[in-house]
Amino acid sequence: MQRIIRGTAIDLSSEGKGVVKNHNDIIFVDGLFPDEEADIEILYQRAGVYFGKVKHLYRISKERIQPKCKICTSCGGCQYQQLDYKAQLKYKTKRVKEALTRIAHIKQDVLPCIGAEHPYNYRNKIQVPFVKDRNGVVKFGFYKENTHIIMPIKECAIENKKAAPILWDIKLLLEEMNIPTYNEDNGRGILRYVLIRTSYHYDELMVVLVTTQMNFPGQRNFINELVSRHPEITTIVENVNSRRTNVILGDKEKVLYGPGHIKDDILGLTFEISASSFFQINPEQVEKLYATALNLVTPNKEEVVLDAYSGVGTIGLIAARNAKRVISVEINKFAHKNAIENAKRNNIDNIEFACDDAGKFISKYIGDIDVLIMDPPRSGSDETFLSVVKNKKIKKIIYVSCNPETLARDIAYLSDLYEVNYVQPVDMFPMTAHCETVANLILQK
Ligand code: SAH
Repeated sequence: MQRIIRGTAIDLSSEGKGVVKNHNDIIFVDGLFPDEEADIEILYQRAGVYFGKVKHLYRISKERIQPKCKICTSCGGCQYQQLDYKAQLKYKTKRVKEALTRIAHIKQDVLPCIGAEHPYNYRNKIQVPFVKDRNGVVKFGFYKENTHIIMPIKECAIENKKAAPILWDIKLLLEEMNIPTYNEDNGRGILRYVLIRTSYHYDELMVVLVTTQMNFPGQRNFINELVSRHPEITTIVENVNSRRTNVILGDKEKVLYGPGHIKDDILGLTFEISASSFFQINPEQVEKLYATALNLVTPNKEEVVLDAYSGVGTIGLIAARNAKRVISVEINKFAHKNAIENAKRNNIDNIEFACDDAGKFISKYIGDIDVLIMDPPRSGSDETFLSVVKNKKIKKIIYVSCNPETLARDIAYLSDLYEVNYVQPVDMFPMTAHCETVANLILQK
């Protein structure tokens, strides 16, 4: 293939890239939308597909808009920031429908994706790497897609606005106090990442310093100075990750300031969240997502519900209002501990929590389960878990998914016994190609 070709996007890939056909080759192009024609520079080839970027746009889609963020074309986080919001929702609905047709081989009506009232600055969590250049200048930002090159950010268009000023002061303090940042090449240095979590309903904010060693020199001064510059910080946690890996968080944690967790509300319940616990990142949309999922539970207080991949217990605790009993299973020990606290905090006692792999847990579990609510990570569930679901002939499955392709794969695996009767995407991640979906599956045999 030539280095530069002229082509027209005919579709969007699941990663939100423009799909261009050139004879028998397929090219995925960043920031090129359907019907747009461009000169495309071919960058590399992977697994039989080419990847490219736009050199010159000849024809512009009516759905294209000016992005809010100047680096959105290179940071890779917001694949859809140059698309009108209505069009973003249209493509997400289409992606779910196509995944079900292509992977699960079912023709299923998919309801239009439920959009957000506030599609910018919604994220309650930001995590960024910090590095120091040769001149001692500290930089933080996002990794450019598929690289470890940091794209410095002033502020991010989808992040909570409270985060950027804190990140800027951390940068200044690292420089002033000469605290070394981590060097990926030789594994030396101290500060690797900073993670900030904000609460939507309370004036609470958590800073997590991901470091290579516990108690770094100058730590006390650093914390005191940071808190005095930012009194909105209510807790600071140190997470130690000394491994040479791309995984951000390590297993050891120490509370440096405040209680070590923040709280937030969803649908009238209050949840405690630790540094490494999963918590849904869009506080307004999560209420729509959970309401969509929980509307599928019959509110007769007669059913036993299994909440698998339960995080800090959110879905299970809300479901407990309408269920006879809830059993929750989660693998992360910090999230599991939060979940137990969250039950106490909300005075809910018809729920039990297991800290285990969902597949291992369900294989050992001997009681009846009437309804399964499952919300696995992007990689989806696995055969160990799903094969037991089939053996137990659980009558109803409410599958909450953050990846349409693994949702479709798991539905295909269940399809000899289950039929899908409802699919509703909910936009938890405006400006990105990510898509959350609720699907209802009913036992047929
Ligand atoms: N339902 C929760 C969490 C969903 S995210 C919510 O809405 O907030 C997926 C969760 O699955 C994470 O908390 C992750 O720690 C957990 N997880 C990942 N693999 C798992 C496994 N094999 N078994 C049980 N839980 C797992």
